[in-house]
Amino acid sequence: MEVDNVFLCGMVNDSIILADRKKIIYANPPTPVMFEICERQPLSLKELMPHIHPADRETVEGLISTVEGEQQETRHFQYRIQAKNGKERWVWSRTFPLFPESKRTVVLSSDITEMREREERLKQTEIAVRTADEKYKVLTSLLPEMVFEMTLDGRLTFVNLKAIFVFEYGSDFYIKNLKFIELISNDERLRCFAELKKFIAASSEVCEIESAAVTKSGRKFPVTLHTTKVYTDHQLSGLNILMLDKTLQKNVENYQENLAFLSKSALNFLTLSNDDDIFIFVGKSLSKFASKSVILVFSYDQNSDISNIRYISGIYHCLDDLIEIIGGAPEKFDIKLSERFKSKYLSDKTLKKIDRLRYVIDHEKADDVERLLNADNFYSMGIARDGKLYGGLLIAATDETKSIDTQTIETFIYQAGIALHRKQIDNELVKAKLIAEESDRLKSAFLANMSHELRTPLNGILGLAQVMLNSETVLSSDFRSNVKMIVDSGNSLLSLIEDIMDVSKIEAEQLKIKNTPFSINALMEQIYSILSVHPIYLQKNAKKQNIKLIYDKPDDNLSLVSDPDRLKQIFINLISNSFKFTQKGFIRYGFSIEGNVITFYVKDSGIGIPKHKTEEIFQRFAQVDNTLARKFSGSGLGLAISRGLLKLMDGKIWCESDLGKGSNFYFTIPYIAAPTQAKGELTYSSCEICEWKNHTVLIVEDDLINYKVIEAMLRRTKIKIIHADNGLAAIESVCLNPQIDIVLMDVHLPEMSGLEATIKILEINPSLPIIAQTANAMADDKDICLNAGCVEYISKPIDMNELFVKMSRFLVES
Ligand code: ADP
Repeated sequence: MEVDNVFLCGMVNDSIILADRKKIIYANPPTPVMFEICERQPLSLKELMPHIHPADRETVEGLISTVEGEQQETRHFQYRIQAKNGKERWVWSRTFPLFPESKRTVVLSSDITEMREREERLKQTEIAVRTADEKYKVLTSLLPEMVFEMTLDGRLTFVNLKAIFVFEYGSDFYIKNLKFIELISNDERLRCFAELKKFIAASSEVCEIESAAVTKSGRKFPVTLHTTKVYTDHQLSGLNILMLDKTLQKNVENYQENLAFLSKSALNFLTLSNDDDIFIFVGKSLSKFASKSVILVFSYDQNSDISNIRYISGIYHCLDDLIEIIGGAPEKFDIKLSERFKSKYLSDKTLKKIDRLRYVIDHEKADDVERLLNADNFYSMGIARDGKLYGGLLIAATDETKSIDTQTIETFIYQAGIALHRKQIDNELVKAKLIAEESDRLKSAFLANMSHELRTPLNGILGLAQVMLNSETVLSSDFRSNVKMIVDSGNSLLSLIEDIMDVSKIEAEQLKIKNTPFSINALMEQIYSILSVHPIYLQKNAKKQNIKLIYDKPDDNLSLVSDPDRLKQIFINLISNSFKFTQKGFIRYGFSIEGNVITFYVKDSGIGIPKHKTEEIFQRFAQVDNTLARKFSGSGLGLAISRGLLKLMDGKIWCESDLGKGSNFYFTIPYIAAPTQAKGELTYSSCEICEWKNHTVLIVEDDLINYKVIEAMLRRTKIKIIHADNGLAAIESVCLNPQIDIVLMDVHLPEMSGLEATIKILEINPSLPIIAQTANAMADDKDICLNAGCVEYISKPIDMNELFVKMSRFLVES
């Protein structure tokens, strides 16, 4: 080899080998370095073989055979050398025939390890990128949400399968020919376009836009667009859009809203006080569901077949024209419902889409109104409940209206039906209550009247008989006993009237219990003093039957709260019975307290009651012996009254008896201790005839007989008597006679009532004692008299003793 060439070959980093077939003629210095064969020059190419990577030895053999072969040619070989440090290095060898005839070959080898590594890395990256892109496309295509890619001028460059499906375009070809903005609904398009433009111009990388999309067939649905920017070579080139369908979310929101609305409206319906409020509430609520629609709510009265508009809205844009068509304001318009509506909507609880307005309204101008309203859809529904039509509604909806939520409206109208039905029942109940109250009032007035009417004549009979008995004139014994019989029979009649009145009052729930604190001992003693002079008791003892009335008096003096008059009535009843049915022995009464209950008893040693009758006798008119031949008189009402009274007093009554040995009657009431010790009741059973000759009494009484009775009763007291037969005359008398010390005022008077006269008299002379006397013995009478200013109350027929006792409280004896 030429010296110059050798020199040149030593200047390069590559290995240069000059081979003559099998023999190496020259190898430049980088050659042993490259092939890692020490300092030594290789003698043949075969010597390189052990340093070659086993997998590439074949390649190198190809190289060797090229060099050693007959045919010299230019060929490339890439193979690896196994470096001593265990690493591999890539070598790229090229064979060049030197001269065709010389058969010599130059083998030029370069270390291409780095280059190969670079290439490899590049290839890997390329594969990775390609795979990622493919994956991205595949994934986005399959995403359950809609994905779009668009250029900056809005052309779609990618649309995933979901979007193609949702937008109802059969193949992506069609959708790609569209611009993205064409997928947005008409009414949203401008706004959405503006927002996208703003985002493109902005520096932000993501944005969210709420909008509405429209499919190929025109179905509109709410969407959210999640938009990001796409760059190509660092230049903004388009947008990626993830479109989320909000229909489901909106539905859930609407569902929740509707549920809340329905539960709220159910409560509202409960609080609305009249029909009108209910209809207005229905109308107002419906306006929220069907905005931009005409809403009409009307009532219907089945009896009169009249339907009135109760609510109307959304009509104002065409109000003038409507007034012209129907000839008046719609609010005042009575509509006639079509027969079809009336029959169909009674039972049908659905909101119906109707084609013609006249299906609901039977009016000659219904078609004109329909044209005027220019609605796309009419909906109507009846407000009915339990086979009764209370009204209905009509919605004239335009396209712009939100889709009508039929289900919610139906439930809401169902509630309205219930509310109207309930209101109707309420109204009927109020009416029934008024009628019942009126009939109660009449009943009560009847009872008061009867009581008055029966007592007034009795007052005359009994009063005059009493006067006769007490007169100073000496009466023949026959005459006296006859008069006595009049008194006794009168008293029996009076007690019968009182019993019948009491039974009626209990049944009419007119009997009122008047609770007041009182001393129980005083009451029991008063009962004793009344009954110890009872005619039967006196009679039986006179016949030496020897019956003992015993009061089991306790040590303590207790006060309780109850109705002492009614307790007295029950005791008198029971003890009077014992008198009747006991021939000898004892009648004892008393009480015991256990916890919150006070138990009274009346026990006798009389004839007793058969066991099977001890409950029956508490029924009205029930008597053990109900034969006409019975020995004992009585109405059979006393025990029924006692039981009725005790029921009102939260107590009970029962009987335990041993036939032939006696009867024990028990009754209970709640024991309510009086806060302070109550005073004992004044008894008036032992009043002496008084002397009031220096006093003057004004007797106000329109009934002459009754006046005569009182006059006769008072004659022996020598009191001066002035008579006035009406209220006005009474006032006049008081003015003219300042000496009047006391007034006996009848309550029922012609022209001016006794109570009115009392008020006027007290204005003239506030300290004048006025005692009311009335044949009314109803529960409230006493209170009414005392409230008018009377100092006392005495009921007719007047008991002479009671009259004297009550008057003597206000008059000093002379
Ligand atoms: P009346 O005594 O007017 O018949 P009551 O309702 O007071 O009416 O009594 C009903 C009946 O109960 C009496 O007729 C009598 O048969 C019976 N009865 C009530 N008290 C006694 C008693 N102490 N002893 C025996 N029988 C009694």
